[in-house]
Formats: sequence, structure tokens, C-alpha cells
Amino acid sequence: MLLFLQPDSTEHTGEALLATLREAGLDGQWVEVQPRRVLRLHGQPRSIEWLQSLAGVLHAVPAERPFHLCLKDTPAQKTTIRVADHSIGGTEPTLIAGPCAVEDADELVGLACALKRSGAHLLRGGAYKPRSSPYDFQGLGRDGLKMLSDAGRAAGLPIVTEAVDERSLDEVLEYSHVVQIGARNMHNYALLKRAGACRLPVFLKRGFAATLEDLLLAAEYVLEQGNPNVILCERGIRTFSDHSRFTLDLSIVPRLQDLSHLPVFVDPSHASGRRRSVAALARGAIATGADGVMVEVHPHPENAMCDGRQSLDPAEFELLAEQIRLLATVRDGQGETVL
Ligand code: PEP
Ligand code: MN
Repeated sequence: MLLFLQPDSTEHTGEALLATLREAGLDGQWVEVQPRRVLRLHGQPRSIEWLQSLAGVLHAVPAERPFHLCLKDTPAQKTTIRVADHSIGGTEPTLIAGPCAVEDADELVGLACALKRSGAHLLRGGAYKPRSSPYDFQGLGRDGLKMLSDAGRAAGLPIVTEAVDERSLDEVLEYSHVVQIGARNMHNYALLKRAGACRLPVFLKRGFAATLEDLLLAAEYVLEQGNPNVILCERGIRTFSDHSRFTLDLSIVPRLQDLSHLPVFVDPSHASGRRRSVAALARGAIATGADGVMVEVHPHPENAMCDGRQSLDPAEFELLAEQIRLLATVRDGQGETVL
């Protein structure tokens, strides 16, 4: 185990902690993880809860999972990420909306303008699509990036789009405001490192079979390379449940919010795979404390080349955006009731 000490801890706090551990038959050794004090524990503790309850201990983390950059130093610590004139992780929930894939330039401009009018903060759309089948539409590549960038500019919306490998990351960096790393690439450590070395915020989606720790370790790869701007996104995991495409694990939202200072998002579209479930799950995400949602919207979902069954139409998105704004005022205490 690694024990991360509170940021205001002194040498005296550390010595007192070591003494308590020794009384319990354990021992420890200081390790250098600037700027924090970190103690590597020797011996088998009673429980992690007991360790966390000891004076001066901020986090107790298994040594084989030694993330620390993504953890909070204080309960109130929060990373906010400025994208154009919007703050991700700030007081207002962030709405990211757009089609699964970039398809048609004119249609995308019309959609982007409608989304902006409804209150979206970022425009999404894949130009490089990581599809489960090699026979499915793989995206328009650089042409798609240009179309997304033009549509974003026309509507006054910054854009977020996915890089599927190191080559596409270089292209995405030329056009996008935020780079997305998808669920299938959450374990692609070479890609995470490259994203960590770039200047754009990284929208990191949870892998289908990734635990909370796996997700935080993936974020740690980016942070460790010097990029402080990571957004975590729950997008559904595989379970035995077969009534929806994936199982949306909303329970990870308050856990992540407690542990990490990084903004936490939810994607109800890929999680449910079902248009009629998307708004309810998005509202649930906001009620659970998410900093924002990413939702697929298509002008004609029935004709979409990709993920039409889970895409809202612009009118449905407009209604959802209104509901989310209302919910957030209640959640954050500006309404009459505080959740
Ligand atoms: C996407 O957002 O376009 C996408 C492919 O999502 P995920 O990586 O969560 O499957
Ligand atoms: Mn999709």
C-alpha cells in the first residue's frame, strides 16, 4: 500500500503516523513523490478504511496501482478546463452534442447551429470511427475533421473528436479543441502518453471492462506526461444485463467526484444504445453529480450512417438541454430544493 499524506502534513505528522503503524505491527518507508509525502507500507493492515482513518492520511492506494496525480488533495479541489468561453467542471453542466460520425458538411452546419441555439457547449462528431466491424463505416478522416471544424466555426461551438491512433491524433490536434480517446483505446498506453504530451484537453472514456482504478490509471498516464486537462467519461460497461447496449454505471459518478479533481461526464447514448432511454439517463447523470453529458444527436436519426438508433433529434435535444439546466439549479442549490 502507498499512503499519501495530507498536503499540509509536516514531518511531525509523518513520524506520528509511523509510530501508530508500528504499534499496530506494521512499518513503512518514505518514498519521494514530490510535492507530496508518501509512505510505502510494509505488512498487512486491518483494512483500507482503518488506514484512511489515521491522522494525516489523505489516500491509501494499493502500491501496484500508484496513481496520485488524479486524486484530490482537498475535498474541494476541482479541475476546471476552459474551452472557448465555457468552463468544463465549473458551475454550469456542460452539454456536448452532435452526430456519432461526421457525414455531410451542410447538414452538419445546420445541426451545429440548432445545437448551439439549444445551449450545447461543444460539438462532437467522429471523423475516425473505431467500429466493432471492419465492414462498417470507418469515418471520413481528414475531410471529416475539416467539416466538423467548419461546422463548429459556423455555429460558434468548439469541437471534440476522437483520435484512434497516434497518426490520427496528429490530425485531430490540427483541428480540434478537445481530443477524445474512446472506450476501445482507454488501455492504449502509447496513445495516452502522446495525448499527455499535447496541449489539448483529453476526453477519456471508460473501457467496457475497466474498473474505476483502471480509468484513473489511464488518466494518470496523460497527467504524468504534463497535460493537466483530462475529462473522465462513463459510457457504460459490459454486464450480464442484455436489455441495453451496455450497462450505464452511474454509481461511478459520485465515487469519481469524491476521489478525483477531474471533471466527470456521462455518455448515455453509447451506454443505452436506445434513443428513448437517452434523456432519462442523461437526467440521472446530472442528478448523480456529473459535470456534463455527451449525447449523440442527428438531424434524421433514422438515416444516420452510424448509431442512429441511439441518436436524439434536435428537438429532443432542445428539451433535454432545458431539463438539464433546471435539474442543475435544483442540484446545486440555486432552486428552492437542494438535493
Ligand atoms: C464515440 O463517442 O463516438 C464512441 C465511439 O464512444 P465509445 O468510445 O464510448 O464507444
Ligand atoms: Mn456512436
